[in-house]
Amino acid sequence: MSRLLLRNFFHGPLTEPAPAADPAALAELAARVNRASQARLGRSLSIREVDAGSCNGCELEIHALANVLYDLERFGLRFVASPRHADVLLVTGPVTVNMRKALERTWRATPDPKWVVAVGDCGRDGGCFAGSPACVGGVSAVLPVDLHIPGCPPTPLALLGGLLALLQSVSR
Ligand code: SF4
Repeated sequence: MSRLLLRNFFHGPLTEPAPAADPAALAELAARVNRASQARLGRSLSIREVDAGSCNGCELEIHALANVLYDLERFGLRFVASPRHADVLLVTGPVTVNMRKALERTWRATPDPKWVVAVGDCGRDGGCFAGSPACVGGVSAVLPVDLHIPGCPPTPLALLGGLLALLQSVSR
């Protein structure tokens, strides 16, 4: 035990280094998302995040979009508390049996036009939880999905790129 404590004291935790921040790329991408949102909706994009059963890894990256480094709200993108105020449902995780009904009710409460974005490998097909009796599967097993953003978890820039691709595809 003392050896383990000593090793941890000198070597620190085994984590991957944080990706280098690129404020210029972020600002350009976020501004493009906002321009696309203004062109499509005439206003900023409102996003409701729904955790349908994730491990919270995807949530950490989504939350990063609102932290002091990314600070998405300065570009007009907003996370909203109620699905009634949302344009996009950002759904993470495999859909668990326990969360299925809540996800369906959230989707029904979101006014049209609305788009569903499945986030992460679990959102696509259940990922590493696929086949579990506690899971229904990916988001598309329950809701019509407009876009999938891959990754485990996807980075904040990948999330922004996905939102831009969504807005560009629905603008056409
Ligand atoms: S995709 Fe990865 S980070 Fe996201 S919920 Fe699944 S296991 Fe967790």
